[in-house]
Amino acid sequence: MAHVSRRRSIGLAALLLTLVAVQQRGAAQVANTIYTDGDILTMRGDTAEYAESLAVKDGRILFVGPADDAKRHAGPSTKRVALSGKTLLPGFIDTHGHMVFFGKNLVDADLFGVKDIPDLIERMKKQAQRTPADGWIVGFGYQPRGMKESRTPTVEELDTIATDRPVLIVDRSGHLGAGNSAVFRAAGVSADTPDPQGGSFARKANGTSLLGPMEETALNAVRSKRPSFTGQLANDVITGAAKIWARHGHTTAMEAGLGLGNDDIEIVLNAIDKRLLPIDLYVAAKDSNIDDTVAAAYRVASQYNPAPDGTRRKLLADRPDLDKRYVNRVRLGGIKFWLDGSIDTAWFTQPYTTNPPGRSGSFSGYRQIPDEVLDTAFDTYWPTNLQIHMHMNGDAAADQALAAIGKAVNKHGMRDHRPVFVHASYLRPEQIEKIKSYGAVPSFLTASVVPGGDGVLKLWGNDRAAVAMPARTFLRMGLPFTFSHDAPVSPVPSILALVDAGVNRTAASGTVVGPDERIPPYAALRAVTALAAYQLKEEATKGTLEAGKLADLVILEKNPLKVEPSAIREIQVMETIKEGRTVFSR
Ligand SMILES: [Zn+2]
Repeated sequence: MAHVSRRRSIGLAALLLTLVAVQQRGAAQVANTIYTDGDILTMRGDTAEYAESLAVKDGRILFVGPADDAKRHAGPSTKRVALSGKTLLPGFIDTHGHMVFFGKNLVDADLFGVKDIPDLIERMKKQAQRTPADGWIVGFGYQPRGMKESRTPTVEELDTIATDRPVLIVDRSGHLGAGNSAVFRAAGVSADTPDPQGGSFARKANGTSLLGPMEETALNAVRSKRPSFTGQLANDVITGAAKIWARHGHTTAMEAGLGLGNDDIEIVLNAIDKRLLPIDLYVAAKDSNIDDTVAAAYRVASQYNPAPDGTRRKLLADRPDLDKRYVNRVRLGGIKFWLDGSIDTAWFTQPYTTNPPGRSGSFSGYRQIPDEVLDTAFDTYWPTNLQIHMHMNGDAAADQALAAIGKAVNKHGMRDHRPVFVHASYLRPEQIEKIKSYGAVPSFLTASVVPGGDGVLKLWGNDRAAVAMPARTFLRMGLPFTFSHDAPVSPVPSILALVDAGVNRTAASGTVVGPDERIPPYAALRAVTALAAYQLKEEATKGTLEAGKLADLVILEKNPLKVEPSAIREIQVMETIKEGRTVFSR
């Protein structure tokens, strides 16, 4: 086993680490667990660095280094774990997912992979049988493009599932959906209801009745009327989803849109009060839900960790004790805005190469919110610790984000805010320069290349697809970027699938989408560990294996750096450890 490589000159940071190590050796603390005999990949630095052993004490990493030195920390009670050829890494960090939303879908019908409308109706009828009489019959995950009819079902078709009970279906992007007559009645929506800003209800040609499909904010308006998850159901949402996140190696999960459902805050408060979470959950409040979420966070913070006379703004700005901001594993870290749509409705400066189904003429997607809304948000939150996350796929949406940041910088000066460019699928070169100067971090949805790459090539054209999610460009420029699954947009929150997608960029058809933007496996692993911690502003406690950091660990069956790139996605997660405690084991 190679010793820790020392390629960098010894700077102040290295000196400090040495001092810490010396101090700990002097104290000779006894570890709870010592790992040896496998690849221990620290994820520090730009090239792979291995350590012979890792010791854990009281939920933190006590020591990383030579096996002989680790022996000093072994006592009679120390558990010794021989990795036996398996690979130990820092626990994976979710940089853009929807764990609460996912948890709710666990109780809904699974519509992933539906072939056609009859198949969808059939699955929804089964869902109707298992749904309580007062509940909505909800399904999630279909994709119009992937269905024989290449369209969304109509009110009449959905009425064949139930006429007296609300039926709602949501597509896999979460941006589009459709309902039956009863769901529109329950939501108080008719053909006379004006379209909300940033969304629309499809109407029949005569304009006097609803067609069924709805988009964006219109869908959200209906969805928000769904009855709340309470009691055991609320527990199941969190524990069910967290178990799946842990199975895929996450020690930190994200809900990047708390408030998509009107009971989201209650579900998370329930998880805090009952200590339901085995792993950390970083929460970003949905734009329309900021005030309610911040008020709830303030109540929680003052209940669990009283801040003397803290005003709301003070609470947001004065919490430099990064990891202590988690209360029973939940932390309010950001706010989420949606600037445009998905692959079919991304907001571009240039029209689509091939129009998405149902579009005609010159179509270049559309914005979701006025500039003023985003400008005001940056004016308010740029100087605070609450990060702004912005969903964007097209370059016009990125322009909107950069303009808002520019105004905040002019007024308040440069801050270490790290705004998150969620997906950032298509960026022009000069936009990347601005991202650099503002310290923004893109979280690329690499997972979408696999199911969606062929669609991106067709709709966006070769030029845009080739530089979609430009990880190699960011790597070359020395800029941070992360990878995310956006689950449930990806049906499974698999981190290794993201690593695979970043390394291989192979679409479902086998076509490599943008071969020049493929990155080496080590860089892809950094995007889900060290750089992911950086995006969350938690690099002081997470993301690399270093003494003093949290013992958030994942053990893989094989080393992703030592298998064929095409085999990365087949590697099994063997064990997930959160602060020294096993939360998943195969
Ligand atoms: Zn998302």
